[in-house]
Amino acid sequence: RHLLERIQQQDADYNSFITVTAERALAQAAAADERLANGDAPALCGVPIAHKDIFCTRGVRTSCGSRMLDNFVPPYDAAVVEGFERAGAISLGKTNMDEFAMGSSNESSFYGPVKNPWDNSRVPGGSSGGSAAAVAAQLCPGATATDTGGSIRQPASLTNTTGVKPTYGRVSRWGMIAFASSLDQGGPIARTAEDAALMLSVMADRDPRDSTNLQREAEDFTRDLGQSLHGLRIGVPREYFGEGLNSGTGERVQEALREYEKLGAQLVEISLPHTHLAVPAYYVIAPAEASANLSRFDGVRYGYRCENPADLRDLYMRSRGEGFGEEVQRRILVGTYALSAGYYDAYYNKAQQVRRLIKQDFVKAFEQVDVIMGPTAPSPAFELGAKQADPVSMYLEDIYTIAINLAGLPAMSLPCGTVDGLPVGLQIIGNYLDEARMLNVAHQYQ
Ligand code: GLN
Repeated sequence: RHLLERIQQQDADYNSFITVTAERALAQAAAADERLANGDAPALCGVPIAHKDIFCTRGVRTSCGSRMLDNFVPPYDAAVVEGFERAGAISLGKTNMDEFAMGSSNESSFYGPVKNPWDNSRVPGGSSGGSAAAVAAQLCPGATATDTGGSIRQPASLTNTTGVKPTYGRVSRWGMIAFASSLDQGGPIARTAEDAALMLSVMADRDPRDSTNLQREAEDFTRDLGQSLHGLRIGVPREYFGEGLNSGTGERVQEALREYEKLGAQLVEISLPHTHLAVPAYYVIAPAEASANLSRFDGVRYGYRCENPADLRDLYMRSRGEGFGEEVQRRILVGTYALSAGYYDAYYNKAQQVRRLIKQDFVKAFEQVDVIMGPTAPSPAFELGAKQADPVSMYLEDIYTIAINLAGLPAMSLPCGTVDGLPVGLQIIGNYLDEARMLNVAHQYQ
């Protein structure tokens, strides 16, 4: 009740929720009270959370931030949603996001931009900006999110929250609306690494319904919290501290690294030589996959349909032209172009080759170090509208996060101070399946 009241009183300022399911939440809370009274409480019994509006929720509209799905009420729950239900959590509603998770500022949402609780004139980051803002404004202690190129970590960085992108394949994508299937991964945004670990423990499970799921049994990701960092080798990539990094952001990250030295860790300078190719490779691969995934929205089976179509071609063209926003249409065009006969080898195949080189950079680095650290985003939260007219400057927001998705590694962002009153995030990148260690490394700092 307390949180529902806060949402009602405050969310007009932030616009972090698209749908609030107050009645459902109160019914779930009553059920949780009963289970607690009976002594059969599961892991997150009665814990209120919110779901990014990209996760299908049975009987509750799931818009993906798009006019295309403004009327879509799924007949089933996503695997992630099932996990929280089993754990006894309460869902307060669905959070705002960039349309189809394409963006870094939450300004491409059909439901309007989300405002950063730290400064209402600034963006909260994206695409999981609603989840990050809701946690930052204390409208819920945790929220689900997804990360294709940085969409969990960058908004966490801009809102002083803790966000975790797991190893690709850890968390089932079943019922999570697809953007770029080889990169998409669900994860939590919470206040601390400990809370994020509790949430991840109910999100990551084996799922035969997702063919790219790693099919590993659920784990307790809090198991290593409390381990000493003595002797930990931290890789510091030269390429993450060059041109384009805001000086205040760089200073906060360096201070955090010195703090880690005090905790007994050892800093090792490393190189990730193909870093500069990550954004260009991503902006071929992600739109290519998106153009294929989004072909299912045709105005015929579900979702938006234009008025009075003249014929089938008109139905397709106007339903898609009216239902999708500008950024989504841009990605579909770029992706379709890159996959066209005659261009496939020059763009898509080349990008896949670059992807392999980027992955090898990390594999080599992890022969020498246990974790890698650097900034999450190049600068603190920017003003609403500042980058909207220039897609490339928006794409560069993810310069430190995108390579990790291309490689499939786990990574997280945690708060490490402020610049001019705005939060800065420290990024920790773990080795494959090494989330438990990565979370403890964050926990020791917090
Ligand atoms: N900002 C990146 C994009 O627009 C990443 C988004 C994401 O991770 N979903 O594609």
